[in-house]
Amino acid sequence: MPLVLASDARQTMLAAARTAYPFEACGLLFGERHEETLVVASASVAANIASDPQHRFEVDPAHLVATQRAHRAGGPAILGVWHSHPEGPLRPSAADRAGVTDPSWVWIIVAPPALAAFLPDPLHPGGFRPLREIEALSM
Ligand SMILES: [Zn+2]
Repeated sequence: MPLVLASDARQTMLAAARTAYPFEACGLLFGERHEETLVVASASVAANIASDPQHRFEVDPAHLVATQRAHRAGGPAILGVWHSHPEGPLRPSAADRAGVTDPSWVWIIVAPPALAAFLPDPLHPGGFRPLREIEALSM
């Protein structure tokens, strides 16, 4: 399944990851889900409230509630979640696998200057299936 990623969303995630270093940055992904394609139009930056933010992330629940409320009021749909791995690697960790709450969410891992996208898949080693095709979208 290809993922289309708006350049603004990519820049938002990379900049937040660099700013948060050596801690993990995190946020939510917004856009549209078509039959064959996920279109990530924008990314938010949330507070990482994990007790060990160098190695874990936890999106501030107040941010999640606010974005869900905004969606109900006509705002963009939440497509998934992103966070950074300040020292890599560019793939989800065991803790990330344990943190999957919605199997339909796309996960983007950011390790500047790169990023990679995954979908939870219990049948795949590591619990995530990489989305290998990432297309750039200028908006
Ligand atoms: Zn992680």
